[in-house]
Amino acid sequence: MDEELVEYKNIFSRVGMSYITDHIGAPYKKRVAEKTGILINTSAQPNSNPHFGTITTLMCVFAIAEELRDYFEKPVRIVFDMLENAADRKFQGVKEKVVKGKKVQYQISLADSEDEYGVSVLDRKMESFYQIFDFLKRKTKISMEIRSYAECQKDPSFRSALLQIYNRMEEFKGIISIDYNGLRLRFPCPECKWIDKKGVFTETVSGLEEGIVFKSFCPDHGAHTAKLSKKSDDYFDTNTPLRALAKAMSLIEFEKRENWVPIMIDGRDWTGRWDRHIHMKGLDLLGYRTSEFPERIFTPNVTDYLGAKLSKSLYVDDFYDYLPAGFADMNNFLEIYGWEGMEILWKEIRKWATDPAYIERDAYTVKYFELLLSGNLDNSEIKG
Ligand SMILES: [Zn+2]
Repeated sequence: MDEELVEYKNIFSRVGMSYITDHIGAPYKKRVAEKTGILINTSAQPNSNPHFGTITTLMCVFAIAEELRDYFEKPVRIVFDMLENAADRKFQGVKEKVVKGKKVQYQISLADSEDEYGVSVLDRKMESFYQIFDFLKRKTKISMEIRSYAECQKDPSFRSALLQIYNRMEEFKGIISIDYNGLRLRFPCPECKWIDKKGVFTETVSGLEEGIVFKSFCPDHGAHTAKLSKKSDDYFDTNTPLRALAKAMSLIEFEKRENWVPIMIDGRDWTGRWDRHIHMKGLDLLGYRTSEFPERIFTPNVTDYLGAKLSKSLYVDDFYDYLPAGFADMNNFLEIYGWEGMEILWKEIRKWATDPAYIERDAYTVKYFELLLSGNLDNSEIKG
């Protein structure tokens, strides 16, 4: 069919929460009433320049923050968890070494890696994140702190969660390590910073309720140890389920201590089974009631023409040459559409926060944004 003959209708039907409430803040009225303000937490791995999906998620975070601030007339701040612990797959990749007769995979984090010019991979990738943060801070006057993973894992509640999970491995195994045995708790060689990816050589040297000493092995520098306790400064990397659970526990303890309501905002791929199985069952096992859990808001995904979510890991592998120019990389987007294009996007996404019918939608396609940016998207209409 000739594409010009297709008529696109910009219709929003009421789905999920948008059936029962017309404001995104309404479900949190009671909880927020008793508190000083709202702390919004979000995160991203800075393993590439932001692609279109990352930009829209960050815009959703600021748009929701502004909407909640105006609705509750209370302070709202954002903490962005920069996951610089993510493995650098692009420049260094995973190294396979034969150690003590076994093939073992070693990885290095973005924070400890350099590109081909000797520049920190993390610093280079964060440049465009800073640009978009500055733009959004100017638009909303909402304050945002960047928290490194290194800081996040130092939090005593985060470490307490790791200790509890390690000491009660049998109970937690089916939740956070479904298909393999053991915890993905790893720590780098202090000399070269490479990490035994799957913890093949990670073992416990001594274990007590209040602290555990682990030993690992670097093929170039030999054995090294690290202590996990609430107070130790030793760095521990965690995989996603373990980090998700430990972070949620530290947000619950933060609310008790500081009297701010924590709201986690993430893309919609973290809702559904992940939220129920990892987040809810895990926090339940850690002894929390659902009323204590952080609130969670999930933002619409951006998908390609066939409905696949734009993925950072595929983007790192230069997968997206079939997307419209500028959609895979924020720097290219700015070259093509300029900051005027960013303004158009912001205006659209700011609107999403004003009615749950927009934000509860599962996804927006690349086509939606092509029509928006070319001025060919008709005014939206909410039905039902
Ligand atoms: Zn080493």
